[in-house]
Amino acid sequence: MDYQAILEEIYEEITPEIGRGKVADYIPALSSVDPQQFAFSIITTEGERYGVGDVQKQFSIQSISKVFTFTLALDIYSKNLYERLGVEPSGNPFNSLVQLEYEQGKPRNPFINAGAIAVTDSLIAHFKDDYKAFEVILNFIRNIADDNDISFDPEVSVSEMDHAYRNLALANLMKSFENLDNEPIVAVKTYFKHCAVSMNTQELSRAMLYLANGGTDPLTQKNYITPSQTRRINAVMLTCGHYDASGEFAFHVGLPGKSGVGGGIVAVVPGKMGICVWSPSLNRYGNSHAGTLALQKFVEKTGLSIF
Ligand code: GLU
Repeated sequence: MDYQAILEEIYEEITPEIGRGKVADYIPALSSVDPQQFAFSIITTEGERYGVGDVQKQFSIQSISKVFTFTLALDIYSKNLYERLGVEPSGNPFNSLVQLEYEQGKPRNPFINAGAIAVTDSLIAHFKDDYKAFEVILNFIRNIADDNDISFDPEVSVSEMDHAYRNLALANLMKSFENLDNEPIVAVKTYFKHCAVSMNTQELSRAMLYLANGGTDPLTQKNYITPSQTRRINAVMLTCGHYDASGEFAFHVGLPGKSGVGGGIVAVVPGKMGICVWSPSLNRYGNSHAGTLALQKFVEKTGLSIF
């Protein structure tokens, strides 16, 4: 299949949609991002790369980082992790407090904010230090992306910390239900740091390859998790990766995917490739508008859905 030609066709078709929607503005440092940007990268398990648009342009990965922290926590805690969080779609906005109260402080899944904060807290508890935990997270991302220059943008994490009322509320609520080991502010600060990691679509598509290949990087042969853990992460991405539009994403795209409010979306074609698309303007669910449409076109043109 001529992936490069397909990506170029998509880019042309999608151009009128780029910039439609709204960039995330509840994090001030993200509100100034130019909405007229778009990039789409894929990399096969053989290491062939294809791309269109600003594939080198760094952006804030935000909730995409939750895939990486979930991987690390699953590797450390295995099934015991599920004592603290579930794997059910929430059907609620990513930062909803109501459900968490009803369900006694146990977040529905690792990809809503409460679940991701609980996962980060579990990593801090394991490494006994928040700086150490963040170092492990960042090193893991550098490893799977095969790029040691990847870092985080302190301006974004500080800006988020300045407006952290809701995330702190989620963390405090979990603490009150004894589902948080560390102080809420420590867990939330570390969570914001990994959300503020900056990457481009080339690096993020590369970082998905271990999930396309049963937990082992097909290019470096480094093993990170077992095939069964990989299946589980992909399943949670499929069912919970797009906030309360996860059902729609599964319906229209049909690939394990995770989006972030920075406008990035990663996706996995098991056995075949890692994908990342980015365009900062978001639809009403907080997912990239042009990115979602581009992925939809990609599976229509290639037939590469898991269904
Ligand atoms: N750091 C963001 C928050 O907690 C992540 C949101 C997202 O990308 O879904 O609000």
